[in-house]
Amino acid sequence: MTSSTFKVSGLRAGILGKEIVKGIDLEIHSGQVHAIMGPNGSGKSTLSHVLMGRPGYEVISGSATIDGIELLGMPIWQRAQAGLFIALQYPIEVPGVSLENALGEAFAARGQDRSMVYEKVLAEAKRLDFDEKFLSRSLNVDLSGGEKKRNETLQLGVLEPKFAILDEIDSGLDIDALRDVSRRIEAATTEFSLGVLAITHYSRLLKELKPDVIHVMAGGKIIDTGGPELADKLEKTGYSAYGLKDEEPIVI
Ligand code: ADP
Ligand code: MG
Repeated sequence: MTSSTFKVSGLRAGILGKEIVKGIDLEIHSGQVHAIMGPNGSGKSTLSHVLMGRPGYEVISGSATIDGIELLGMPIWQRAQAGLFIALQYPIEVPGVSLENALGEAFAARGQDRSMVYEKVLAEAKRLDFDEKFLSRSLNVDLSGGEKKRNETLQLGVLEPKFAILDEIDSGLDIDALRDVSRRIEAATTEFSLGVLAITHYSRLLKELKPDVIHVMAGGKIIDTGGPELADKLEKTGYSAYGLKDEEPIVI
């Protein structure tokens, strides 16, 4: 498999005329896991929403590319075709559309044989300990937090995107779900060279999903970058080493 690069350069963005993301640079290669950690209110979720193309967010300047293809300005489905997968903090419920339907459409849109979908879905469900009864249900409707995340991770395993942005996949997950989901994603980094941008407030996610690079974000900027040891340090000292409080939003 050829190596891909997800590159964010000088990204400034916000909402309702307020700048929240204040100049972000990232370069993630296939198979790498980058984590962004930081106190609440740092702009982490805003960054993930802007990269995903969620409506209502305004890009002020900068770029985000996969292998040189500009994503900013593209609708969400085109970003997905460019190789991006995004799991949302609060997944959208889609009544009337089953998982298999949705994945079949995605396969067809990429010129892949949709008859392969069911087999892949079943194999992924087994790996994730995800009950088959959910597969014919409407997408995400009536699923618990853990089931939604297993469902999203199943989609990731079937679709084999180049890059995934995971915003707080550890929020609201029990230990078993967190372990299953993060193990599957970690395996994807070698199986199909998935590159990951994992956004998290806590380091517990990073026990299974082994980061190569950790970035600390505060006030809309990346204020520190280091190796996996940075997560251990943050766990011990919180964000006080940066003169920041752990839980309180930063006023910007
Ligand atoms: P994090 O994910 O790091 O906790 P967010 O990106 O959610 O941070 O929020 C960063 C800042 O942007 C906060 O000050 C928050 O109040 C503000 N913000 C986030 N979403 C909105 C919104 N929809 N409208 C106005 N301000 C917002
Ligand atoms: Mg957030």
